[in-house]
Amino acid sequence: MKTISILGSTGSVGTQTLDLILAEPDRYRVRALVAGRNTALLAEQARACRPEIAVIHDRAGLPALEQALAGTGIAVAGGADAVREAATLTADWTMAAIIGMAGLHPTLAAIRRGGAIAFANKEVLVSAGDIMMDAVTEAGVRLLPVDSEHNAIFQCWESANARSVERIILTASGGPFRQTSREAMAAITPEAALKHPVWSMGAKITIDSATMMNKSLEVIEAARLFRLPSAAVDVLVHPQSVVHGIVCYSDGSMLAQLGAPDMHIPIAHALGWPERLTTCAKRLDFAALARMDFMEPDAERFPALRLAREVLEAGGGAPAIMNAANEVAVAAFLARRIGFLDIVGTVEAVLNDMGPLPAPDLDAIIAIDAAARQAADALILSRAA
Ligand code: NDP
Repeated sequence: MKTISILGSTGSVGTQTLDLILAEPDRYRVRALVAGRNTALLAEQARACRPEIAVIHDRAGLPALEQALAGTGIAVAGGADAVREAATLTADWTMAAIIGMAGLHPTLAAIRRGGAIAFANKEVLVSAGDIMMDAVTEAGVRLLPVDSEHNAIFQCWESANARSVERIILTASGGPFRQTSREAMAAITPEAALKHPVWSMGAKITIDSATMMNKSLEVIEAARLFRLPSAAVDVLVHPQSVVHGIVCYSDGSMLAQLGAPDMHIPIAHALGWPERLTTCAKRLDFAALARMDFMEPDAERFPALRLAREVLEAGGGAPAIMNAANEVAVAAFLARRIGFLDIVGTVEAVLNDMGPLPAPDLDAIIAIDAAARQAADALILSRAA
């Protein structure tokens, strides 16, 4: 039996991970489920998969969780320390799917503890990529990319021929505003931006997909995961979202991974690795698909992609600034405090204001992250005034 912990079990990735685990309950034993605030769903999940412990980050939810799980024998805990402790429980496989930089310490704790890490939390890889990758090497753990594009690259990546990789291509659906003019983007509402044409995901990543900041974060994530320079990580818009990633080799071969746009597939790949699980995910029907389109992304209408290149070039604390300012700006957009175009506008302004900063260690990154959040908040407040 494989022992499993899920960090971020109540989110989009977390619930899909649990779907797979509950489909084959004899194969897995769940050690810890960790969530942010959704006590009701966490309790329901715990009753279904019987973990040893269920942890809620928001301590205010602890009494309700205790009540909901009374008599089940499942331990409960609340607060940031409890989240971190749950991440250190020994497990063969941990899903790191807490959203944003909130996932930093728990994910790092899980890496240092050992066992395979299924990595969904791209924000942490963007902000603290070198530290995360060094921790992975030091702990000797297996890192399994979960983001569909990175999982695709992982599936096509021939370790023995890594030196022959010329470049990789990440595909992007283009989001709901692929064909929207920049002028019209000014009036985009949170409701419209939350309607992704292809993927069903959590709110933050859905907004990131609409601004294409998601692809920017993914370019940086790929550069970190596969230790590639910015120039070797290409992006192509592919509205059908059936080709997820392509690895291009020096002999002219290109290996691509295809599949229905369903996160159960990359999650199942990470969960089963090195074996293949069986999932109920839709199988692609090429005859019905008929065509696949690919095009260059429009850098004018989606400047986030340019920012990713600049940030990779600048290095140091720049990725952490970009990520932190984006997290603040997305939350402000969802709260209707800023417009759609202000999201990337805020990120760019904060990057310019803070300039390049060295980020030699984790403390420096945490400080830069906090300063960038403050700067983004101040900018949003000043614009509202
Ligand atoms: P969601 O917003 O749907 O879920 C986030 C999860 O994190 C929830 O379980 C939430 O708990 C939990 N959480 C939030 N804050 C804390 C905290 N401080 N401590 C503990 N848990 C916390 O996000 P997604 O599932 O969409 O995304 C998760 C990660 O995976 C992100 O980094 C995203 O970029 C990445 N990803 C997601 C994909 C997708 O299809 N959704 C695809 C590829 C990558 P609660 O809800 O209880 O508050």
